[in-house]
Parts: sequence; C-alpha cells; structure tokens
Amino acid sequence: EADRICGVRVRDCETGEETGVEAHAVLNCTGVWTDEIQRLSGGRGRFRIRASKGVHIVVPRDRIVSESGLILRTATSVLFVIPWRSHWILGTTDTGWNLDLAHPAATRADIDYLLDTVNSVLATPLNDADIEGVYAGLRPLLAGESEETSRLSREHAVARVAPGLVAIAGGKYTTYRVMAADAVDAAVPDLPGRVARSITDKVPLLGADGYHALVNQAETLASRHRLHPYRFRHLLDRYGSVVHQVLALAADRRDLLAPVREAPDYLRVEVVYAASHEGALHLEDVLTRRTRISIEYPHRGEACAADVADLMGEVLGWTADARHREVQMYLARVAAERDSQREPDDSAADARRSAAPDPRPQLLAPVS
Ligand SMILES: Cc1cc2nc3c(=O)[nH]c(=O)nc-3n(C[C@H](O)[C@H](O)[C@H](O)COP(=O)(O)OP(=O)(O)OC[C@H]3O[C@@H](n4cnc5c(N)ncnc54)[C@H](O)[C@@H]3O)c2cc1C
Repeated sequence: EADRICGVRVRDCETGEETGVEAHAVLNCTGVWTDEIQRLSGGRGRFRIRASKGVHIVVPRDRIVSESGLILRTATSVLFVIPWRSHWILGTTDTGWNLDLAHPAATRADIDYLLDTVNSVLATPLNDADIEGVYAGLRPLLAGESEETSRLSREHAVARVAPGLVAIAGGKYTTYRVMAADAVDAAVPDLPGRVARSITDKVPLLGADGYHALVNQAETLASRHRLHPYRFRHLLDRYGSVVHQVLALAADRRDLLAPVREAPDYLRVEVVYAASHEGALHLEDVLTRRTRISIEYPHRGEACAADVADLMGEVLGWTADARHREVQMYLARVAAERDSQREPDDSAADARRSAAPDPRPQLLAPVS
C-alpha cells in the first residue's frame, strides 16, 4: 500500500492453500532467507546476509577419554569437542555457502577437516567408523567487508526498513530473547496504541516452571510410573515439567513406555507426543528435529523409520500409502545425505543432497 508494508501472503505447505494476512507491522526474521524476503517488499534492505555453513560430527562418548569438553584453536577459528549425552559433538566448520539454502550438505572435505583437527590432539585417533552422525547448518551472518565468514560480525542488526517492515538478522541462538525484544521495539512506531515494555527477561521457558522440584523427586516419580530413574531423568531433561503431559499419553497405553526399536534412548511415547503436541507432521520432523535419532545412531534413523511412521500414523491418520511414502522419502533423504558426504566439494555434495524429494515440495516456491 503506497510505500507501506501492510501484510503478507502466506501458503500452508501441507495443503497448498494460500491466504493474505493483514498486519500493522511485519517482521522479517528469516535467517539466511532475509535478503530474499527483503526483495519481495520491493525496497532495499539496510544490511545483507551471508550464509556460513557449519558442519558437526557426532561420535560415541567412549571414543574420547576425557572428563571435560575441549576447545581447540584452528587457523581461522576454534573447534569444540562437546560432551552430549552418550556422545561427543565435534565442530564446527565455517565456510561460505551459496547453494540450496534449505538443504546445506556436508562434504568429505568437511568431515576430514574435523577428523584431522581433533586427531591432532587425541592419543587414539578417530576414523570414519567412529562417526554416528553428521549434520550441517547455515549461520545467517551479517555480510561485511572480510571474505572470511569467521570474522563477520556475530552481533545482530535490526532496522525498520520501510514503514510496516522491520528486519532482524545475525546474532546468536543464545541471544534470541534480546533479538526478539529489539525487533518488536523497532516495530512499535507501526503499532497502534501504547505498547508495554518487553517482559521476556521474566518469562520462563516452557517446562522450566517446577523443573528443579521434579529433579529432586525423580526417583519417586519414576517408580510411580514404573520407569527406571534414568528414563525419567531423560524425559525431564527433554520436557521439563511438561513431562506430566507426555506421560499422560501413556496412562492407558503401557506399550508407549517401551523404547523405540533400534533407537532405545527414546520412548515410543515421545514419538506420539511429537505428533500430537509438538506439530510434527512428517517422519523427518521426528527423526531429525523433535528427536536427534538421525545423528545419534549410525543407521541415521533408517532402522526405526517404519516403526516411528506407525506411531506417527496412528496420531495423524496416515493411510498405508501415506505411511509408505513417508518412509521412502526419509530413506531417500538419508541416502542423499550419505552420498553428499562422500563428495569432495560443495557443488557436488549439493547436487547429491538436492536429488532427494522433500516432504514439503512447495516450501521454496514463491507464493503467488
Ligand atoms: C553450525 C552452527 C553452529 C552454531 N553455533 C551456535 C552457538 O554455539 N551459539 C549460538 O548462540 N549460536 C550458534 N549458531 C547460530 C544460531 O543458530 C543462529 O544465529 C540463530 O539460529 C539465528 O536465529 P534467527 O531466528 O535469526 O534465524 P533462524 O534460526 O535461521 O530462523 C529463521 C527461520 O525463518 C524461517 N523462514 C525462512 N523463510 C521463511 C518464509 N518465507 N516464511 C516462513 N518462514 C520462513 C526458517 O524456516 C527458519 O526457521 C550456530 C549456527 C550454526 C549453523
């Protein structure tokens, strides 16, 4: 509307349905897609974003004998060796990426770099056979003068780029509340009425309320649910005080308190909860996002895909065909990731990874 942004057009990627949403203010907080969304507004942005690929590998805890994590200095940055449950996470790389933003792919070179760097300080070197999982992500960094992404600012930038449009990008996961408050503050001139000061610093995370009391009661509560205390603690670590909501799903179904076959760190009820309460709609949502099965087991979720699909299908009403499709799509994704991780460089890895079908094929198509 004139030079004012007064809403967005959105599409439901599950149904294809499109609709318009009117708004006093629109926040562009789309990470590595910030520039693309900015272009849709027709105006120029105040800053640009550069995608930096970060790859991690996961190895079993017993492969590195250490009581604590490690920080290694590298030529351009640092590499962390982080204890995580029964694993170590090793990472990360930091290289520019200008290929498929939705599916960043790890290469053979990324994995070799991580292994070589960590092996330089280990008495017993790691090799390919030790790797349980590999994952790649893209950091939305503010584009700067330097070519080396490591040196680009990790601070966030926020700007009211046009009346009704605020953009925020850069920053860190750990500063998300400051980022959110700054973005909303920047949108205040476009909002009608008086806007109260942000209270984000007083809002606990979901499941935080009552968490510490539950930790003290873990043994008692575990025996009440006939679970081993370590199982109950695992659930507490994942869900906090929302654990009661998770366990309520198993009140009449004791079978849901059995481990997921081939991924026994998780209980079957966690899969059901992901579909019924956490918005998981596709197999990959559970295997790669709500749980980390795809990086915690060398089979990367292949061995439990069919069982997990059965559990999800019960909640989501999948037909036999839909269930079959989900499993095939997940297996194709894992195969494509494995293929890409054998390739020497980004463009070959990207071609392999992009070959797999996406359960949400309309995700990247522009809304009409
Ligand atoms: C390998 C790696 C390691 C990292 N390590 C750390 C760390 O140790 N500590 C730390 O603090 N930070 C770390 N980060 C950085 C941190 O993850 C990011 O800075 C943070 O996620 C940025 O948040 P954001 O909300 O701006 O963007 P994102 O988290 O990228 O979120 C943007 C969202 O917008 C959605 N989106 C995009 N386009 C559209 C659209 N058209 N419609 C609807 N939705 C859309 C995307 O799906 C995405 O969910 C790391 C990042 C990577 C990749």
